[in-house]
Amino acid sequence: MGETERKARKIRISNNMLIALAAVLILTLAVAAFIIPRYGKVFAEFREQTKIYSSAHSELTAQQERNAELTKQLEEFRTLSGEIQTSSNEVFALAAQLEKDIQEGKTDKRICYITIDDGPYKRGNEFLKIFNTYDIKATFFLSTANGNKLPDQGDVTAASMYPEYLKYGHTIGNHSYSHDYSNGGIYKSAKAFMKDIEKQQNFTAENTGGYRPKIVRFPGGTATAGSKLEDIQAALREAGYGWINWTVDSGDSFGSDVATEKFVKENVLKAAKEDDQKIMVVLFHEWSKASQAAMPEIIETLESEGYVFLPLFYDSVMVEK
Ligand SMILES: [Zn+2]
Repeated sequence: MGETERKARKIRISNNMLIALAAVLILTLAVAAFIIPRYGKVFAEFREQTKIYSSAHSELTAQQERNAELTKQLEEFRTLSGEIQTSSNEVFALAAQLEKDIQEGKTDKRICYITIDDGPYKRGNEFLKIFNTYDIKATFFLSTANGNKLPDQGDVTAASMYPEYLKYGHTIGNHSYSHDYSNGGIYKSAKAFMKDIEKQQNFTAENTGGYRPKIVRFPGGTATAGSKLEDIQAALREAGYGWINWTVDSGDSFGSDVATEKFVKENVLKAAKEDDQKIMVVLFHEWSKASQAAMPEIIETLESEGYVFLPLFYDSVMVEK
């Protein structure tokens, strides 16, 4: 091989190497231009997914912790509920005896059953405070017409109020789940009525550690059931419920122009005096500001006339069965 030939070969080799290098460079650039951005996008998506997953995971953990806390509270309440039931049964036995004595004319005492419909409302707490102040008991007929929130305090669930009534020894009654009797509604048939009552029953039990009311108040009173009343009463009886209307309407639902504090007070006190009711059942509503304002004087006046204020119970003579 001559010197010239060797030189030419060297140049060819270095040319080939340059071409190969250029090819590698172009390929690398192609990879960089097409694959890396795509991979980068996938990677960013993956990172985003990971973030979502990890926040969902911590939310789940927080939820599980909340659930555990609620389960614990419900368990505590179940124990408390048993104790309340025992002391309530003692109160009910005494109340039954007092009813009997009143009917037989053996005592000058009288009984007032305060009943408060349509709760839970935030205002319910105000009624509870008043009843605690005077150390008296009442009955709350609850419904879920407003959904599971307090209409006058939207950030608090209605469910959270349920144990409050029981804690202080008041009775919870069933005022239907929907409270809906427009165009027939729950009064269309005994079946429709019972379905609504059972729904409310389950809601009450779920939020009280198993308390199941035994007394029903018909939304609007029994007269509202119209032609289906007898069917409904038979169904209630069969399912073990009693039901109750009222002997005195406080008038707190007569519209805000009429239903003033004075109006409510006079209605109740007049009925006690003029009708000479020895055992009376008074209708109030949990949303009524007038009733809240009138309540202390109603209690004080009735107490001075010999009334005691008791929670309703299934065996009461005032509860129809
Ligand atoms: Zn009602």
